[in-house]
Amino acid sequence: MKLCSVCNMVLKFEHFSKSKTGHLGYQASCKSCSQIRRKAYNDKRMMSKEGHIRNILTKIKSRAKLKNLAFDLDFEYLTNYSFKLDLKILWLTLMKVAQRDNIAH
Ligand SMILES: [Zn+2]
Repeated sequence: MKLCSVCNMVLKFEHFSKSKTGHLGYQASCKSCSQIRRKAYNDKRMMSKEGHIRNILTKIKSRAKLKNLAFDLDFEYLTNYSFKLDLKILWLTLMKVAQRDNIAH
């Protein structure tokens, strides 16, 4: 039995994910608490500008990969531009690039 540091419930070890760094080899919070926390973290990350750009970049990159296109825009490039550009404009620009690739092939 182990105490969850988040919900303060004493639960069986099977309710905890294993962790090399955690106490007794398990994470401090139970599986359901960890899941909630991970989701909250992801949501927060996605809400942030950086997370949003990373998300877009990942999508574009996977699209480019599917079409065997070289995609040389990197995250730093995009973040530098995003200081000046609105995200919507950035997105539209990237979509235009993707569309142009479609026409070229
Ligand atoms: Zn818990």
